Amino acid sequence: MSAGPEDIIRDEIRALIAYHVPLADGMVKLDAMENPYGLPQALRRELGEAVAGAAINRYPDPAAPQLKARLRQVMAIPARYDVLLGNGSDEIIHIITQCVARPGATVLAPAPTFVMYGTYALFCGLRYVRVPLNPDFSLDVQRFLDAMAEQQPALVFLSYPNNPTGNLFSDDAIARIIANAPGLVVMDEAYHAFAGRTFMTRLAEFPNLVVLRTVSKLGLAGIRLGYAVARPEWIREFDKVRGPYNVGVLTQVVADKVLARHDVLDVQAQEIKAGRARLAARLRELPDVTAFPSDANFILVRVPDAVRLFEGLARRGVLVKNLHGSHPLLEQCLRLTIGTPGENERLLSALVETLAER
Ligand code: PMP
Repeated sequence: MSAGPEDIIRDEIRALIAYHVPLADGMVKLDAMENPYGLPQALRRELGEAVAGAAINRYPDPAAPQLKARLRQVMAIPARYDVLLGNGSDEIIHIITQCVARPGATVLAPAPTFVMYGTYALFCGLRYVRVPLNPDFSLDVQRFLDAMAEQQPALVFLSYPNNPTGNLFSDDAIARIIANAPGLVVMDEAYHAFAGRTFMTRLAEFPNLVVLRTVSKLGLAGIRLGYAVARPEWIREFDKVRGPYNVGVLTQVVADKVLARHDVLDVQAQEIKAGRARLAARLRELPDVTAFPSDANFILVRVPDAVRLFEGLARRGVLVKNLHGSHPLLEQCLRLTIGTPGENERLLSALVETLAER
């Protein structure tokens, strides 16, 4: 008799529930921190021509020199640091985690934070230790330092701003953590475009720092491109674990063309930030809703009954993310991605209607 999954597949993988992507057909999609704006027609036509001319019969150039040069220039990457490209920043999280996966090694991160840090730690057989945030979602610095001293993590992840809470941790707290970390610290700046703050400029201070970014939230989630910046001696090792052709020809061509017009993306990020301020102000007028401060392209809210509100919004054609049940600090919380002004209005009226329902 041949073996089945229960004989062959690792217990911790069989115990997992696959990452669930909900159906969003025809809905106002405010669940995944995407940029709601499309690109101008002229730029789309230019992309069409660039794609038509791309050598898709050939494997991509793994060094991606043109795209890396573009990223260096647009994202102000200091010349003495190297760049690793990934199929989304997700893949880079996976690569770095694999690189440190000695038997018994530990990954440490605050909680709640981006769930994939823990998922990849589990895939790689690493221990994943969570340090709870304070109830206002700030870092409990002493507790974090104590946890590092005790656990000796090979790798620490800090999401800056933090997903799903939306806040930036204090720079002083972060600096103390990086300075005292026994291993690598990845500053995950996925939401950098909406926060304006970065540790990219502080790489020289901290030899163990890796800055991670993505173009997903900027408006290019569909092409899957992330990048990490660190000292060459770190990137050299990460690069060995990267699949040889992990960033496709089409992604390279399209990212290069769009980033050449980053002024378009910058204006969209500004519009999203203005939308965030307007939405936050309107949410604060609702007596039953607590809107937490955000430096990202989403707002975390606490409501009287998150499940009922999530369902009420869905019935009205608005998809958000329900976080209730995912962590004690996220009790009765929903995460609302900032959409276009029209989408934000639809969200608000659906919210007001649902709140009035009982
Ligand atoms: N880091 C953080 C903090 C995120 O929230 C996300 C996306 N939700 C990612 C990384 C992954 O983004 P991507 O793979 O699209 O680059």
